[in-house]
Amino acid sequence: MTPPRNSTAARDIAYALHPYTDHKAHLKDGPLVISRGKGVRVYDEQGKEYIETVAGLWCASLGFDNERLVEAAAAQMRKLPFYHAFTSKSHEPLVDLSEMLIERAPPSADGAPMSKVFFANSGSEANDSAIKMIWYMNNALGRPEKKKIIARLRGYHGITLAAASLTGLPANHKLFDLPLPGFHHVSTPHHYHNAQPGESEEAFATRLAEELEQKILAEGPETVAAFWAEPIMGAGGVVVPPATYFPKIQAVLKKHDVLFVADEVICGFWRTGNYWGCQTLGIQPDILVCAKALSASYLPISAVIVSEKVFQGIAEGSSSIGTWGHGFTYSGHPVPAAVAIETLKIYDETDIGGHVKRVGAHMQAALRERFGDHPLVGELRGTGLIAGMELVADKAKKVNFDPAKKVGGRLSKLGEKHGLIMRAMVNDSLGFSPPLIITEAEVDEMLDRLGTALDELMVELRRESIA
Ligand code: PMP
Repeated sequence: MTPPRNSTAARDIAYALHPYTDHKAHLKDGPLVISRGKGVRVYDEQGKEYIETVAGLWCASLGFDNERLVEAAAAQMRKLPFYHAFTSKSHEPLVDLSEMLIERAPPSADGAPMSKVFFANSGSEANDSAIKMIWYMNNALGRPEKKKIIARLRGYHGITLAAASLTGLPANHKLFDLPLPGFHHVSTPHHYHNAQPGESEEAFATRLAEELEQKILAEGPETVAAFWAEPIMGAGGVVVPPATYFPKIQAVLKKHDVLFVADEVICGFWRTGNYWGCQTLGIQPDILVCAKALSASYLPISAVIVSEKVFQGIAEGSSSIGTWGHGFTYSGHPVPAAVAIETLKIYDETDIGGHVKRVGAHMQAALRERFGDHPLVGELRGTGLIAGMELVADKAKKVNFDPAKKVGGRLSKLGEKHGLIMRAMVNDSLGFSPPLIITEAEVDEMLDRLGTALDELMVELRRESIA
């Protein structure tokens, strides 16, 4: 349908180049223009209401109308709208937020508290910054050959050149001549698809830790600097590893002096039912990267939290190789920092963690009760307020649909018709990561709408003899 002349949709088609968009289809179909939000819902230009099942991009943790965050931004803009942090400059929001993050961070890999915080504007920039910290540190420590990085297939760490190299999704690599040299990937810890017949979760975890060790030995431990992982993979389809996976991985890394970088961009700030995904999955990171819910996404800000060992390596560089020449104009920008401070206060004051534990348990149970036996649903996975639902062509044999049929995308489209904004990912997996403030009644409403969309999809697929 062609949008009316001069409408927002028509002007979008005329002028906007979108992230992650099929532009041929976009030129024809146009955008879904969202014009306002309230609680867990957003509204399009015609006033149609949608429940945001993924909190935007896994990020609008406090929903779409939090006045305290608006006030925090306005107050900071009036007081000091910009200052930077280069060459030892500082300001109160940067210091307050650093302190709050260190107080809340999980213990580091050597058991000591985390030590320092560096700010950037996005998850990708934070991951790039962490890579450069590690490379700089190893140059400073006189081991310039220790630079390789191992991440995982289906991991998602962003789209800048280095972060996209960490990412383990084919579409982010082959179409862009990536990964850069020195980035490697090991297997996805997805028992449902990747376990051998009869292999227990424990045995599967052991095998994957052995695979990592073989990879490190093959490359040479003296050349491998770091291992990168999301506690629960998000954009790769919400993959929850077996309980013993990370402890086994961590033991291998310690043995070969390889750093653990936890990408908490989605899992951080209670998403998985604990403050950090590291706590849910048994990880002690050397570096922790966070973003998104750090500011409830009202303004862009991300952080790299480093252990004392990493900080000492970076500090060492100033005298041995030259000053740490890395930073963004907006690193620690006072306005997003003020919003992030207010966000963390709201999490504490409203006991958002207790709320996520209760409502998350309800969402996980209700998803399984309602859809566990659905013929299209192969696997339901997740914990806290993050879940994945994988659609399959053959439930007994765990066989996915032909990707060309875009079955997940079709469910997402049907969801839109029934008042849901959804996200389809690898293997027709739908992700659920609603604002953390969602109530049990809103979860039920979301799942009612999902049930209607899923049944409609079933009818369509049967009619087309696909299911
Ligand atoms: N890491 C993870 C785990 C993510 O989910 C994302 C974004 N979805 C990123 C990094 C990249 O963040 P950004 O889009 O802000 O660059």
